[in-house]
Amino acid sequence: MSEPEDAALRRAVAPVICYPNETLPKPDMALYRAARAGAKKIDEVLASPREACTFEVPQGGFFRISSVEGPQVGDLNLWNRQDLSERFYSGKTRALHGTHLTTGERMWSSFPHLRPLATIVADTLDWYGMDAFGGAVHDVIGTRCDPYTGNLLSGAQYHHCCHSNLTRALSDHLGVSLTEAEPHVHDVLNVFMCTGFTRDTGQYFMKASPVRVGDYLEFFAEVPLLGALSACPGGDCSSEHTSDVSACYPLRVEVFETAPEALEGWAPPARSGYDGSHGR
Ligand SMILES: [Zn+2]
Repeated sequence: MSEPEDAALRRAVAPVICYPNETLPKPDMALYRAARAGAKKIDEVLASPREACTFEVPQGGFFRISSVEGPQVGDLNLWNRQDLSERFYSGKTRALHGTHLTTGERMWSSFPHLRPLATIVADTLDWYGMDAFGGAVHDVIGTRCDPYTGNLLSGAQYHHCCHSNLTRALSDHLGVSLTEAEPHVHDVLNVFMCTGFTRDTGQYFMKASPVRVGDYLEFFAEVPLLGALSACPGGDCSSEHTSDVSACYPLRVEVFETAPEALEGWAPPARSGYDGSHGR
């Protein structure tokens, strides 16, 4: 189509932030830091390369995801341990915080709950910011690599995409079949993954993660959590995923318990105040 006469004018309209987030309830980071200082480690699990691990975090506790052995990205799912229908809502988290998460930002839960499941309390890659390509770390853009898209694009039958890794791990953790576990798997927080959108075509891109051994991302559990973390077959995601070609390394998850007195003054987040009547 030919451009209308006022095309330049229309393009020049300034953008408006969809969800100004100044009114979001602010996490008490000082309280979290104080609670973390006295927290005790109660568990440690490892996601092996091209596999996923699961872990549970008590409400008010913390968990830390660390790079060990080599640069590796991880696909993280979170559920309310007491009600798996309340789970991480990547799309709404993106709408509220933007395309990538860092310290002080939260992983929000699905409707009708819409409350923080976890708050990021430490990010050793927060120095990265946004690079010249528009890339940043820990995205909530991507979904999770999966065998269905791989099959659609190339006809492949590949079984170690994050979607399948998460499905197997959840099935083992809950003691249910793969068929029962699979619908619980959802879009992820891409831990340590460096991504953005190309300026010219708007395509989702990835590039080698800046993560190095010893880097970590740490979370406060706002509700009792069940987590699953997949060490993506993409490795550091510098070239490809949905295959066994990339170098892959494990990821470590450590879980910490907080003394109840350390959380004095903290109240668990309430479920959404919307009355649920939808106008009827
Ligand atoms: Zn993946």
